[in-house]
Amino acid sequence: MNTAFDQRHLWHPYASATDPLPVYPVRRAQGTTIELEDGRKLVDGMSSWWCAIHGYNHPVLNAAAKAQIDAMAHVMFGGLTHAPAIELGELLLAIAPPSMRHVFYADSGSVAVEVAMKMAVQFQYAAGRPRKSNFVTIRGGYRGDTWNAMSVCDPQTGMHSLFGPALPKRHFLPIPRSPFGGDWDDRDIRPLEALLWNQADDIAALILEPIVQGAGGMRFYHPGYLRRAAALCRRHGVLLIFDEIATGFGRTGRLFAWEHAGVEPDIVCVGKALTGGYLTLSATLATADVAQTISGHAPGCFMHGPTFMANPLACAIALASTRLLLESDWQGRVAAISDGLSRGLAPAAALPQVADVRVLGAIGVIEMREPVDLAIVQRRFVEEGVWIRPFGRLVYAMPPYISSAADIAAITAAMVKIAGEAG
Ligand SMILES: *Cc1c(COP(=O)(O)O)cnc(C)c1O
Repeated sequence: MNTAFDQRHLWHPYASATDPLPVYPVRRAQGTTIELEDGRKLVDGMSSWWCAIHGYNHPVLNAAAKAQIDAMAHVMFGGLTHAPAIELGELLLAIAPPSMRHVFYADSGSVAVEVAMKMAVQFQYAAGRPRKSNFVTIRGGYRGDTWNAMSVCDPQTGMHSLFGPALPKRHFLPIPRSPFGGDWDDRDIRPLEALLWNQADDIAALILEPIVQGAGGMRFYHPGYLRRAAALCRRHGVLLIFDEIATGFGRTGRLFAWEHAGVEPDIVCVGKALTGGYLTLSATLATADVAQTISGHAPGCFMHGPTFMANPLACAIALASTRLLLESDWQGRVAAISDGLSRGLAPAAALPQVADVRVLGAIGVIEMREPVDLAIVQRRFVEEGVWIRPFGRLVYAMPPYISSAADIAAITAAMVKIAGEAG
């Protein structure tokens, strides 16, 4: 493998082209194991950024991919349709919030967010409220890397200082302080209350990640926030968009995170684990009201249509992956991983370098006091035989649901050990 070419010419995520950090060549991946070119085997703690919930090289997903590729890899979705898109749509609506009635397929999480934001603006326009075109979100969020998605990422950890004047100005609310599993403090909702009271006339939608803020800080907040926010949005004619791209498909212990609060949004974005980590695919789901309002007004259609919309190969794998999930005892597995993460990470709480340790569902987080040195920490995890990719002050794991107790023990032992070496 010509890794010198990689270092000279390939851009990696959030990386320098001229002074790149080392990358580790992978030969294959199987189950919960990532095998490096030099033969070293790593226990996967990342599910390749929330996606590979069934592990790698799964026979059921491989079979779905092979069967579909022999029928057709792709046809355009304009004017044509196919069984993978239809059957996946039926399944998604059966497991999504009951009020969801329409499915818009897109190519990645960021695009699903763009689509959701366009739906909200087009909905308000069609409803005769064209001034309602801006967005409100809470700080500490992550929505993706495209232009509008970026505009509703956390303005500090996001890229607002860099892209500042080029980004649309959104309304930002403080991060809810009431923790998941703790007491609800009604003061958390005051800023949204005040904003909507004063400025609801220019706001199309509130967009947020329900319960778990992922790449924006790995925080878990109280479901009371979603219940109160949903009621305020209804009162002020503001749509509610849930970004379930990270939280969907069982990761938080519920199939989707909205279930922790029991409130129904107007629009939902799903992605990441949708295809079990095989291909990029996302979907934006909408209520009958959103779809009918948009479609009942000029130009009579929703103005978006990606080239690879509803790609049959991706849909066939997503269908197989979601069926596999629903047929498995995913609740039992996520609960067992949750226990393993809690037990294994607990000793980190006593380390002077550590600010907080928290676990929800199959997500385990060590929040350090200082940002970690990624190059050093990454090398140390590989030496310990574990694949964990920290960012900033966060050393975190979201392992595949097929992880054994031994896998989780190896992951947490390495996390605690390496957290203890920092600084
Ligand atoms: C990853 C992520 C996105 C963006 O998805 P991409 O597929 O990377 O474009 C959006 N929202 C959340 C919550 C995510 O975790």
